[in-house]
Amino acid sequence: MWRATALTLFPEMFPGPLGLSLAGKALKDGVWSLTAVDIRRFAKDRHGTVDDAPFGGGAGMVMKPDVLSAAIEAVAEPGVPKILLSPRGAPFSQARGRDLAAGPGVLLVCGRFEGVDERVIEAHALEEISVGDFVLSGGEIAAMTVMDCCVRLLPGVMGEPASASEESFEDGLLEYPHYTRPAIWSGPDGIERRVPEVLVSGHHGKVAEWRMKQREEITRRRRPDLWAHRRTATRNEEK
Ligand code: SAH
Repeated sequence: MWRATALTLFPEMFPGPLGLSLAGKALKDGVWSLTAVDIRRFAKDRHGTVDDAPFGGGAGMVMKPDVLSAAIEAVAEPGVPKILLSPRGAPFSQARGRDLAAGPGVLLVCGRFEGVDERVIEAHALEEISVGDFVLSGGEIAAMTVMDCCVRLLPGVMGEPASASEESFEDGLLEYPHYTRPAIWSGPDGIERRVPEVLVSGHHGKVAEWRMKQREEITRRRRPDLWAHRRTATRNEEK
C-alpha cells in the first residue's frame, strides 16, 4: 500500500477533497493510506508552542526547529522521501509525481506562518517542492496536490490504464481538445459548433494524427517553455 503521511498544524484538513471521487475510492479500497499527524503534539511546553519570532527581525513567525524535527523523527521511515512544501522548492512535475508514485510513499511537511527554521531542512535533508510560483497560506493544499497527482497514477486507480499515457506533460506535450455528444451544439452566443470532422470519420490513424498535431500546436502556442524543451529532447535522441 502506498503510504502518505502529512505533518501539519491542521490535521483535520485531511483527507478533505482526497476522501472523494477517484482518490477517495482508492483510499477506501486500501490502495493507499493517508495519515495526518499534528505537529503540535510534539511541542515541548504546556502551551503547545510551535512557532517563534524570526532572528534578525521582520514580520511573521517561524516554525520552531526542535518541535518540527521531533515530529519528523517520529514519522519518518527509511526509503520514504521527506518533502517540505515550499514556494522556494523545485517546481513539482508529472515526472516527479510518477517517481514518487512508484516508491513506497511520501512524507509531506506542511509549512505555516513564514515557513520553517532553515536548520530543519538541512538536518533532515528535506527535499523542497513547490506547486507553483505563488504563495499559499500553508503547505496543506500543496501537499494534497502532490498526493492527488501520485494517487491517480497508482496501479488500478484510474479506469483505463491507457488514459494516463496521452495526458498533458506525459511526453512533454499538452493534451489535445476533447469533444462528446451532441455532435452539433449551439452555445449562448447562438453559433452552431460542430465536432471536428475527423473525429467522426471512424479513421483511427487520421484521428491519432489530428490529435498529435493539436497537441503540438497547443503546446507551441501556450507553453513555449515546454515546446523548447521537447525540441531539444528530440534533437538529442537523434544524435
Ligand atoms: N514566507 C514564505 C511563504 C510562506 S507561506 C516565502 O516567502 O517563501 C506558508 C507555507 O505555505 C510555506 O511554508 C509552505 O509550506 C506553504 N506554501 C506556500 N506557497 C507554496 C507553494 N507555492 N508551493 C508549496 N508550498 C507552499
